[in-house]
Amino acid sequence: MNDMNRTAVDAALIAGKVRSEMARVFVERLADSALAAPPGLAIAGWLIYSVAGWPPALVWSFGMTVIELMILFVGYRYQRCLVQGLRTDPWLRAQLAISGLVGLGWGSAVWFVWAEGQMLFYVAMLCVLVGVSGICMVTMAPQRTATLLFTLGILLPPLLQLIWVDNPIALEVGLGWLAMASVQAWTARDLHRELGRELDSALRNKSLLELLSKASAELQLASAQKEEKNADLAAALGQLKTLVSHDQLTGAYSRRYIFEQIDRFAAMRQRNGAPLSAVMFDLDHFKVINDTHGHATGDRALQEVVRSVGGSLREGDMLARVGGEEFLVLLPMTELSAAMVMTERLRQVLADTSINTDSGCPVFLPASFGVAELLPSEDQAEWLRRIDTALYQAKSQGRNTFVAAS
Ligand code: GH3
Ligand code: MG
Ligand code: MG
Repeated sequence: MNDMNRTAVDAALIAGKVRSEMARVFVERLADSALAAPPGLAIAGWLIYSVAGWPPALVWSFGMTVIELMILFVGYRYQRCLVQGLRTDPWLRAQLAISGLVGLGWGSAVWFVWAEGQMLFYVAMLCVLVGVSGICMVTMAPQRTATLLFTLGILLPPLLQLIWVDNPIALEVGLGWLAMASVQAWTARDLHRELGRELDSALRNKSLLELLSKASAELQLASAQKEEKNADLAAALGQLKTLVSHDQLTGAYSRRYIFEQIDRFAAMRQRNGAPLSAVMFDLDHFKVINDTHGHATGDRALQEVVRSVGGSLREGDMLARVGGEEFLVLLPMTELSAAMVMTERLRQVLADTSINTDSGCPVFLPASFGVAELLPSEDQAEWLRRIDTALYQAKSQGRNTFVAAS
């Protein structure tokens, strides 16, 4: 998973984001600490006043207040640049420099509390500085440069003072001061690393989430497109099937389809003896309709035939156009006697069916019929030949009649 993270998310990009986030956290924390500084300044100011009187206390407090105000000002400008998408580097550098200044300012406080017989105030000021130093280490941890400059700044005045004045506990203070600085530097380093790790994983997770939601949106889109394509394909397939199974002019079943059905029902007839009959009919003198009224009227007549005959069939019966004006009706589960009744009905229906022509005279559409039941001993071809023969017998008997095949 870790390796996947690293390949999926641009490491350099993340590192850059971590850096700028560290800078933002640093500036923000420093501004917060400047706001919280007055109590510390008051205690240190009081210590200075107690030893050196009002003027030095006021000078030092004023200097420190100026520094804290500078922190707030730079922090504000930094935030503005961040919001406006402008370069924040100059303000960050300014804030780093001020960090050193803060150290120097606090460190210089020991000079004001040094006086003969006032060791207690000196030690108290050292304690204040230790506290301030701890707070600033945490505050400045996101920026190593700031930590370094501050540490140097706060160490320098007390160390110089140790060299300068005759301090009876100089060695203890010097060693303690260095020990504290080492511990703080170590802690600041840990804090810096920890924050870096946290930011890195938070930003990495954020980037991964973005990648994930992008991928999921793409997946959804692809799946929707695929479903759309599938639906189109299914519709096209349906149309293709209809084209193959149906006659385009009349909507009756096609020759190909009805012959497949004949094979299917003939097989059932073999298996379980279910009776199967078929009727074939051919329109009488249809050529005359075409010749007299035109091919389009002939087409309309064929459509009317299918509409009339189709409307007279039972459920499960199938009407197909097997030739120009030749039709076949498949009657599953039907014995010859019932098929003959059905044939006579269809003959009657067609004899009564007519279409209107341009001349205003209706043209009737009688037909001749042949009907037969599939015998157990014969195959489909033989059976259809018998029906065909019966149909032509009906033609020769004068048309508009039916003949049941023997
Ligand atoms: P019979 O009573 O002997 O069947 O006479 P008939 O005129 O119906 O027979 P014939 O086979 O001589 O003519 C069939 C006609 O059907 C000829 C052809 O022009 C016409 N026909 C075949 N297919 C179509 C079609 O799709 N549309 C139209 N309008 N006419 C068709
Ligand atoms: Mg005909
Ligand atoms: Mg014909």
